Amino acid sequence: MLTLKQFLDRSVLNFWAVDTIANALDDNGYKHLAMDRQWDIVQGGKYYVTQNDSAIFAFVVGDGSDAPSFRIISSHSDSPGFRVKPNPEMVCDGGIVKLNTEVYGGAILYTWFDRPLSIAGRVLLRGADPFHPVTRLVRVDRPLMTIPHLAIHFNRSVNDGNALSKQKDMLPVVGRVDGDPKGWLKRFVARQLDVSEDEIIDMDISLYDTTPACSVGATDEFITSGRLDDLSMVHASLSALLQIEGPSSATRVMAVFDNEETGSGTKQGAGSPILEHILRRVTLALGGSEQDFMAAVARSFMISADNAHGVHPNYVEKQDPTNHPVLGGGPVIKINANCKYMTDAQSAAVYAEICRAAGVPFQYFVNRSDVAGGSTLGNILTSQIPLLGVDMGAAVWAMHSVRETASLADHDYITRSFTTFYNL
Ligand code: ZN
Repeated sequence: MLTLKQFLDRSVLNFWAVDTIANALDDNGYKHLAMDRQWDIVQGGKYYVTQNDSAIFAFVVGDGSDAPSFRIISSHSDSPGFRVKPNPEMVCDGGIVKLNTEVYGGAILYTWFDRPLSIAGRVLLRGADPFHPVTRLVRVDRPLMTIPHLAIHFNRSVNDGNALSKQKDMLPVVGRVDGDPKGWLKRFVARQLDVSEDEIIDMDISLYDTTPACSVGATDEFITSGRLDDLSMVHASLSALLQIEGPSSATRVMAVFDNEETGSGTKQGAGSPILEHILRRVTLALGGSEQDFMAAVARSFMISADNAHGVHPNYVEKQDPTNHPVLGGGPVIKINANCKYMTDAQSAAVYAEICRAAGVPFQYFVNRSDVAGGSTLGNILTSQIPLLGVDMGAAVWAMHSVRETASLADHDYITRSFTTFYNL
């Protein structure tokens, strides 16, 4: 199994996270099923499916020894960032080229300045069938561009609050390029993939920070990296899945959705019925009925794993007076009176018992009552499928920065709680 650091460094974008996971599943004997084919599955078998190359669902089928149910851990593959627009090249003075981009999700824009950035994504190549272009992933493993900040001499009040335009201030500069600047990106990507430019029909290309993850702190207790939200939870759930020991009547499921950062409203997002389809198909493919499926759902439990806000040493006042999770204090159970989270006392009690069985501490997060919080996967999923479940995650600092910070001890605690959940 890859370490968290290795996993983060390989998974520079949603597509690459799914690729990293699929490789790990292949290496561990999981069989790839196609969404557009009949599923031929057996009790105790290990399988996975992908959706849009950016969401992935793996499961170990229950053994039929008792009434079937599902034990699900869900998380998401995407992180805020910048997506390159079509016709991106903009030529500036001296032939310097910058790229036109669009912000994806709620990125903290400041943190993207002056970093060694590169590109990664998915390329659609012409194939025999117009409805099924050939997909290839691309990732440039060297710094290729940067978003230079304006010098302080041109804006003396920059440290007193500085509004940023996503269109004007945030465009990455690649410098001078070979040949005609127009069409450079497509030419460059074609060279990376060793295909002809004419073969490329379309591309999903995004920026990523090439700085690798590293530990930090006097005792190396923290990890600082891009994409901890939510790839740390993806890594914990994958580690737990690969540590499943022995059979169970419960089908153990790892669900990694895409597009959480933009509201989950896509066919690969938690707002679609994709998970419900997969769970139903598992039941039907084993010869079960619709009744069997609904009864199995009623017996099931889901851990919706997405990062939480740890109390920030410089901003203690931002947190609730009695529930402010600390980095290193264990998994965080997220609670909201207005049901932004799926957690209720019943599901919180179940997860607390799982933590006790795993021998790990846990803590609670509730928003300060005069601060509006974020949303996550759990409550969106329960509008599609009525599961009992808990919203939880690791406490992090600087959520949605290009570089977030979390506790390595928490990662170990959470992985142990997930492993116990699957194996109980
Ligand atoms: Zn998240």
